Amino acid sequence: MPKLILKIALDVPLDRLFDYLSGGQVVKIGQRVLVPFGRRSQIGIVMDMADTSDFPIEKLKPITQVFTDELPVDAETLNLVKFSASYYQYPLGQALLSALPARLRQIAPAVSRKHYAYQLTDFGQMQTVEQIPKRQLVTRRVFAALRAESLLTEADLDAISSSARKAVKQLVSDGWAISKQVQVSIKLPEMPAAVMPELNEEQAMAVKQIVNDSQSFKAWLLHGITGSGKTEVYIRLMQHVLENKCAQVLVLVPEINLTPQLEARFRSRLSNYPLVSLHSNLSESERLRNWQLAQSGTARIVIGTRLSIFTPLPNLKLIIIDEEHDSSYKQQDSMRYHARDVALVRAKRLNIPVVLGSATPALESWHNAAANKYHLLSLNQRAVTAAQLPNIECIDTTKVNLQHGLTPQLIAALRLRLKRKEQSLLFINRRGYSPVLLCSACHWIAPCMRCSSRLVVHLGLRALRCHHCGHEQKIPNQCPSCGNADLHPTGHGTQRLEQTLAQLLPTARIARVDRDSTSRKDALVEILDKVHNQEIDILVGTQMLAKGHDFPNLTLVGVIDTDSALHSPDFRASERLFAQLMQVAGRAGRADKAGQVIIQTQFPEHSLFNALRSQDYVSYANAMLQEREQVQFPPHVFMALLRAEANEYQLVQQFLNHAFTLARELTNDVTVYDPIRPQMERLKGMERGHVLMQSTSRQALQNVLKNLVGQLRGQPIASKVRWAVDVDPLEF
Ligand code: ADP
Ligand code: ZN
Ligand code: ZN
Repeated sequence: MPKLILKIALDVPLDRLFDYLSGGQVVKIGQRVLVPFGRRSQIGIVMDMADTSDFPIEKLKPITQVFTDELPVDAETLNLVKFSASYYQYPLGQALLSALPARLRQIAPAVSRKHYAYQLTDFGQMQTVEQIPKRQLVTRRVFAALRAESLLTEADLDAISSSARKAVKQLVSDGWAISKQVQVSIKLPEMPAAVMPELNEEQAMAVKQIVNDSQSFKAWLLHGITGSGKTEVYIRLMQHVLENKCAQVLVLVPEINLTPQLEARFRSRLSNYPLVSLHSNLSESERLRNWQLAQSGTARIVIGTRLSIFTPLPNLKLIIIDEEHDSSYKQQDSMRYHARDVALVRAKRLNIPVVLGSATPALESWHNAAANKYHLLSLNQRAVTAAQLPNIECIDTTKVNLQHGLTPQLIAALRLRLKRKEQSLLFINRRGYSPVLLCSACHWIAPCMRCSSRLVVHLGLRALRCHHCGHEQKIPNQCPSCGNADLHPTGHGTQRLEQTLAQLLPTARIARVDRDSTSRKDALVEILDKVHNQEIDILVGTQMLAKGHDFPNLTLVGVIDTDSALHSPDFRASERLFAQLMQVAGRAGRADKAGQVIIQTQFPEHSLFNALRSQDYVSYANAMLQEREQVQFPPHVFMALLRAEANEYQLVQQFLNHAFTLARELTNDVTVYDPIRPQMERLKGMERGHVLMQSTSRQALQNVLKNLVGQLRGQPIASKVRWAVDVDPLEF
């Protein structure tokens, strides 16, 4: 007797499941269904079945439809999302539906798992091209292709013409061709077997240890300097795991600009195995297709950004997290999960190994390694023997004359690279270096009306723009504060730096890489190709450039201005700066040419630069951990924020005061701090505030949060503000 009542997760901001009647339909757990909800229909996922309900049965409605053609989401994935929703204090239904590809949130069957292929009928075989009118060119070509190939998939048709599907349908209705359903599959590219470099001792040791212990859960921290061959270690591990029939591997990468190069490398080295990628640059149908290939077990390798941690993978045997310290693994809105942390939970539940790789591990991870929760493996040498670590020097900007923000030393070094036909990279930290509009008389700086931020000058657009809310306005003719007409941009944005360089070095071919210049889909790939083809001499850019790229002819890295991060109120700023500078420095001298790094700073003796000069992550990390212990910051304690925002700060304050009192009453094991305003007090016209809670016990913090959220939900005061809990926050 099938169970009568279905417990269904819906995309609504309520932390509960909804009861529906199965209405005689055969439904499995994890299946996608359509249900009536209020006056509308909603997509839901069946989480459970029962014989009883807390509601009177006669009030329950039957589900409308079951999408039986689709595989249900498996229990492992459902449980992982359940865990995450609970840990990050987010409604389960919203967590689950947002983890699915957008197509699966729409009220329509997701067709992509059913694919069609076409072949000629016996009748069609007897026809000739000449019988098709000449102007039906596409139909002629499709017919010819069917003759030659005997079976054409939809993808084959798309390759012929965008109207080929329409043409083939005509052939079907004329009885010349028939369609049949086929499985979606992945065509493996034909590639010559890639050469395998012989592993050096450290690499071989790392691979051996993990392989010997690959049958159960273990978290490995692979700490290797840039260019030490971490990726090569990943590849060997993957090869080993994939030899097992059906096994799947998930590789997480921080941001999308990393994927093209890394993806190409995995594809060529592991060409025997179907590989798909999952990231936000895919079209919705590509994303659905790749997700379903992962879910069905067809894809053996999945490379993806943070959201792919929730992809169903029935035979997952290994998780690799590249650049595990990267903050883009943390989602900054809706469910604020950290993909690395979720990956650890997933690996533990599946009893499989997880490998975290980085040149500058997050202090959390380093701490876990020190506590023997993670197993540390180190690669201390560059893999290409000829490649040496770059020489890093700091130039004191208070002691020299700057030309448009550049020191004579850096300009000379750039000239030398031009002469030698080598490449240079100039790195600007994105935050705080954008040019703002300054009044020379009264020092007024153009502010954003909606955010606590300054507007950024975009000379190309002749406009001021807010990088936080997108607000845009014309550059004013005079200062609104004192009437002075001498307003000029100050600060070095990437655009200004590009102009300055063009003046100083007129023969140099310069390319700029930032959010603006790479907003078009393939723009970044094109620039990178040019760099590889030696069509670019100087690259100017933000941290988008710091990661993962391998430019053999790049021998100079200049760091223009990072000083504000040295004195930031954010306690993680120096950790991030160190990681970033280690990474950019790692771009110099990757092949057989020695690299040079020039850092312009007012504080050349700062301990961060000392550690950087000796490329000594380990002592810097240990020193930072000690500092954090003294002041009781993470990873020595666990934190959570209750964030709130509203049109008026008064509402925020009322709400936070109320929450503060509630939280204080709940326990003594959690320290609850007074409500304060975040660094960005106002954002997109909303006034913001938060309450910080911290504890040495993760469990105690979790208990308070659960309780607090439960009490706050549904209270009138809580409906007047937008609020959210941020567990293990990275931004304050
Ligand atoms: P990482 O991921 O640590 O930055 P990579 O794996 O990208 O380092 O390796 C850096 C360079 O060294 C790459 O060009 C790679 O092909 C090469 N490489 C890696 N391992 C070896 C090895 N054992 N022998 C020769 N070259 C290697
Ligand atoms: Zn003024
Ligand atoms: Zn703004």
